[in-house]
Amino acid sequence: MNLRPEEISSIIRQQIEKYKAEVEVSDVGTVIQVGDGIARVYGLEECMAMELLEFPGGTMGLALNLEEDNIGCVLLGPYSHIKEGDTVKRTGRIISVPVGDAMIGRVVNPLGQPIDGMGSINSDKFRPVERIAPGVIERKSVHQPLQTGLKAIDSLIPIGRGQRELILGDRQTGKTAIAVDTIINQKGKDVICVYVAVGQKNSTVANVVQRLKDTGAMDYSVVVSATASEPAPLLYIAPFSGVAIAEEFMEQGKHVLIVYDDLSKQASAYREMSLLLRRPPGREAYPGDVFNLHSRLLERACKLNDELGAGSITALPIIETQGGDVSAYIPTNVISITDGQIYLEPDLFYAGIRPAVNVGISVSRVGGAAQIKAMKQVGGTLRLDLAQYRELAAFAQFGSDLDKSTQARLVRGERMVELLKQNQYVPMDVEDQVISLFAGANGFLDSLEVEQVQPFEAGLLKFIKSEKAELRQELSDKKEITEDLKAKLKEAIKAFKDDFVQ
Ligand code: ATP
Ligand code: MG
Repeated sequence: MNLRPEEISSIIRQQIEKYKAEVEVSDVGTVIQVGDGIARVYGLEECMAMELLEFPGGTMGLALNLEEDNIGCVLLGPYSHIKEGDTVKRTGRIISVPVGDAMIGRVVNPLGQPIDGMGSINSDKFRPVERIAPGVIERKSVHQPLQTGLKAIDSLIPIGRGQRELILGDRQTGKTAIAVDTIINQKGKDVICVYVAVGQKNSTVANVVQRLKDTGAMDYSVVVSATASEPAPLLYIAPFSGVAIAEEFMEQGKHVLIVYDDLSKQASAYREMSLLLRRPPGREAYPGDVFNLHSRLLERACKLNDELGAGSITALPIIETQGGDVSAYIPTNVISITDGQIYLEPDLFYAGIRPAVNVGISVSRVGGAAQIKAMKQVGGTLRLDLAQYRELAAFAQFGSDLDKSTQARLVRGERMVELLKQNQYVPMDVEDQVISLFAGANGFLDSLEVEQVQPFEAGLLKFIKSEKAELRQELSDKKEITEDLKAKLKEAIKAFKDDFVQ
């Protein structure tokens, strides 16, 4: 760095002048150092944390390190033209995003500016991106289901409105697919969805947006995107911008689903920023407050109590693991903050079991409270069935003679695994899920070949919809399988099966 004596002497001179005047508050400062997307600014004593600063050429900066005699700020745009000695103006504004109905259907950057080419956003309401999460008194326990439309999840790892459920797995294991299916499944369920893309490729985000448009999900969704090519501070802010947009809806008493895809990339961006700001590195070179980063973000997802309108934010954060290592720093942090996790496994994915959910180590700590009774009834023994199957399948490989009951369990398990497979973009209504799983749990699939399971399921659901609509209606009204309904369902499935096997 070149030292410029005239600048240093002018700073010293200013210091001396100020000495008498106590603090002379100024809204204009000077850049004393710039590089790597970071600027140090002198002379902004009153600057607030997270305040936006204006640099020459309209580049904005975000004040993060408030030190005794200077401010460390990150630059949110091109910075090659900024040099030492440039003036910096305070804006007096904490970084905020536009919120409200005008955001729905739009794709924005983390500053809330549209990037979808659909014109400006007409919102006069702004919210700061950082906010303290609602406290204990303002909340209520989670009790309404948020259906993903995926059998493997809704039956075994149910998610409730206001819950935070982590999706984690290696790269390319279908993490985004689960989140997108869940968004698509909210159609007509009065849930607003916010999809936050952090550090992904432009093309990947464009694909998701296109998919949401094609399925009509964009009508109730907002996409906040900070792609890999953008400066680290934008990746860091994106999830906070997303949740600020979500909070506005929650406070109106609405239900919101927010997806952070993914927080690993946010953590790396935060690490990059912190190291450049010369904050001390900790484990895996992340700054010591990376836990706080994720917890203050995820705590903002909650279920508000009735006095506050009973709105909710359900969060589905995504974390990418390396080589299936769930005990790395960031995964363990986020596992401990969330109310459960859905673990996706490459082995299952490649074996064709998709969604590749490992039901053995996936949990939902709220779950049961947010499941309809009928789902509880059919899902109750499913987890046990599958666990037993996995245990026995390992033995069965030895090829020894197996007794009848072991064989029966293997047959059942194999068919249940097949039944839980589900394609992308075809989320199922809870009634259909219950009917499918009911058929499996009551042994109707046991005599079929494994390859027949999926055609059987598709046929059965179609049959019930067209011929036995009253059963489906009864299920959706009562939300439980009464003895009477159970008998009627069995009869209907039997009738369909007799036809099917011929
Ligand atoms: P990344 O680590 O790159 O973000 P990801 O874990 O988000 O990947 P996806 O992009 O969701 O994974 O899915 C990876 C691939 O698997 C995609 O091509 C997707 O179409 C396919 N896929 C995901 N889920 C299913 C499914 N249930 N059935 C069939 N194909 C699927
Ligand atoms: Mg993905």
